[in-house]
Amino acid sequence: MTNFFRANVDAMASYVPGEQPKRGTQVIKLNSNENPYPPSPNALAALQNIDGEWLRRYPEPFGEQFRQAASQVLKVPSDWIIVGNGSDEILNVVMRACTEPGCKVVYPTPTYVLYRTLTEMQAADIVEIPYIEDYKLPVAELIAVNGAVTFIASPNSPSGHVVPIDDLEKLASQLSGVLVVDEAYVDFSEADALALVKEYENVIIIRTLSKGYSLAGLRLGFGVANPKLLQGLFKVKDSYNIDAIACAVATAAITDQAYKNACVVKIKASRTQLTTELQQLGFHVWDSHANFLLVQPPQGNAEYLYQKLKEQQILIRYFPYPGLLDKLRITIGTDEQNQALINAIKALIS
Ligand SMILES: *Cc1c(COP(=O)(O)O)cnc(C)c1O
Repeated sequence: MTNFFRANVDAMASYVPGEQPKRGTQVIKLNSNENPYPPSPNALAALQNIDGEWLRRYPEPFGEQFRQAASQVLKVPSDWIIVGNGSDEILNVVMRACTEPGCKVVYPTPTYVLYRTLTEMQAADIVEIPYIEDYKLPVAELIAVNGAVTFIASPNSPSGHVVPIDDLEKLASQLSGVLVVDEAYVDFSEADALALVKEYENVIIIRTLSKGYSLAGLRLGFGVANPKLLQGLFKVKDSYNIDAIACAVATAAITDQAYKNACVVKIKASRTQLTTELQQLGFHVWDSHANFLLVQPPQGNAEYLYQKLKEQQILIRYFPYPGLLDKLRITIGTDEQNQALINAIKALIS
C-alpha cells in the first residue's frame, strides 16, 4: 500500500488530549485544567457585539488590538508580543522556525506531552531528561545538551511546581538555542519569568487565555520575546492566525484583570481545601502553583480510581507514562465539584 506520509509522521504517535465529552453531557470535568468559572462578562459582551463587517474582512494579521491590550497589562512593548491560535500554535511556530531534522530538542520530564509530538513532527532528536527527586530541575544536564529548543513549563504540568527563576536564568545565559518558558498556568502562581525576556534574546515566554481567563474554547495564546526572536517566528506563522472574534473577545478578557483575579482567588482557596481533604484521605499531594493537583492515592491504585470515577461521570486525568503510573492529575473545580469528587473517592477507597 502506498504511504502518503513522511517517515517521521508515519512513525509518530498522535497527541492524546483529555477526553472532551459532548456538550450537554452531565459530567464533572476535572481532566483538562479548564477554569470552572465562566469568562469575564466583558468578554461575553464583546462576543455579542461582533460586527458582521469584521467577519467579511480579513482580520488584523498580528492581532494588533489584543497586542495593545496585552502590552498595557504586562508592561512590555506591543512589538514584543506574538499572538497565536492558542499557545499550542506558538509552540508549533517556534518549532517550525527553529528546528530541523537532526537537531536536538530537550525538556525535563514529566511535562506537557505536546513537546514530544512537536519534536516528532519536525523529525528532530528528542532529548528527555527526567526531573531530579521532587521536581528539581536538572540544570547542568539540560545545558550540556544545548538543544536548538529547550522547553520548560513553569508551573509544570502535571506536577504543578514552579521552576526557580535562578535555574531559568542559568539556562537562558548558557544555552545558545531558544529557551521556551511555557507559563500556561502562571495566573495561579506567585512567580513568573517575564523579566528574563528583557535580558536574554533567546527566551520566549508563552501565555494563554485558556486557563486563567476561562477561554479554552476561544483558542488564544501569546508569546513575549525580543523582536529579534519574534521576526523569525512571524515568517512561519499563518498570515491570519488570529480570527476577528477571538481577537475582540480576548482583548476584553485580558483587559478585565479584576475579574480574572477574583476567579483565581476562589480557585486558590479551593486548591488549599482540596489538598487538605485529599491528605486526610491518605493521598500524597504535591505542592501546586497551578489550577490542578498531582496526587498519589494511598493504595497506589491510580488507574483503578480513574476508571471508577469515570464510571460515575467524574473525569480526572491518568497518564500512562513512566513516573506517573501511580499518580493522578485533578483539575480544581468549583467547591461543589470538588466535594462530589471527595465523596466519590471516599466511597471507593473505604
Ligand atoms: C493547556 C496548556 C497549553 C495549551 O494552551 P492553549 O493556549 O489552550 O493551546 C500549553 N502548555 C501547557 C503546559 C498547558 O498545560
